[in-house]
Amino acid sequence: MRTPPLGEFGMIRRFARLFGPARPALIGIGDDAAVLPFDKTRYQVLTTDMLIEGRHFRLDEATPRQIGRKAMAVNLSDVAAMAATPAFAVVSVGIPARLGSSFAVRMARGVADMAEEFGVRIVGGDTNASDRVVISVAVLGWVKKNRLVLRSGARPGDRLFVTGSLGGSYPSGKHLNFKPRLAEAHFLSSRFRIRAMMDLSDGLGSDLFRLCERSKVGAVINGGALPLSKHARNLSSAVNDGEDFELLFALSQTDSRRLVSLRVPRGLAGFTCIGEITKRSYGILMREPGRKPRPFREGGFNHFRVTR
Ligand code: ADP
Ligand code: MG
Repeated sequence: MRTPPLGEFGMIRRFARLFGPARPALIGIGDDAAVLPFDKTRYQVLTTDMLIEGRHFRLDEATPRQIGRKAMAVNLSDVAAMAATPAFAVVSVGIPARLGSSFAVRMARGVADMAEEFGVRIVGGDTNASDRVVISVAVLGWVKKNRLVLRSGARPGDRLFVTGSLGGSYPSGKHLNFKPRLAEAHFLSSRFRIRAMMDLSDGLGSDLFRLCERSKVGAVINGGALPLSKHARNLSSAVNDGEDFELLFALSQTDSRRLVSLRVPRGLAGFTCIGEITKRSYGILMREPGRKPRPFREGGFNHFRVTR
């Protein structure tokens, strides 16, 4: 296949122009989920994500149940990023004839496990034969209007936090077994006015740029403060491996002090302050102990990466 010259994000920008404005949706392309009108007090959120054999998983490394589980979990992670509650899902699959229906049923069991754990009802889908295993899930959820969190609300002076730890998601198997951070998002949104939030799917080294773009701000990351997972080889692996499925969020200084002094209930991932939001003109920087802050090079995972 010829590499398209636009890159993943360029392609999405082109699609956005082609598809036109989101109205009457409040938020269309560009956040973790679309935000749609619902009723007087709530918005609906809608998101979809697809997993492809050879791209997101390999059949010799992931069980059908894990693949199904992950297909639902990546969508729930995007719902968590809006501080919303997932409610309904549709599931579309492409299954190679050689794998037969037992593979499909085991994969469906993984989808159902994840759905049940988070109170999601599966209400439809589509089934096809295909050359490779493909599974695409779409999830609909809701959020109280005053609790909605976008990527776009961060302001200079805000503190940046992440949940859990970063890096080594492939060697540790976390990329298959991660828990979407819905409970953490609700814990936060019920106590704080979260300024901006997104989930980390491509790696901090890519996703931070998306959050800063939408918020029209810069950031300084404190390299020494990043919560590296046991399986992260080094700082660069924590920043660029991707598939962490943790939340990246910004809080005002007052809220961030309150969060740091709170005791996090058992069963929730921890929260770590990793830096702060600055003016856009300062760019996006990495500060490491004993070194001058340097430009944070955009990395992470990007389908159709274009080298500039
Ligand atoms: P995430 O990693 O949070 O799932 P993506 O990076 O996949 O987000 O997508 C970024 C934004 O672009 C999202 O708002 C998504 O809905 C939108 N998007 C991605 N691909 C397409 C497409 N083919 N057509 C329309 N919108 C798209
Ligand atoms: Mg996302």
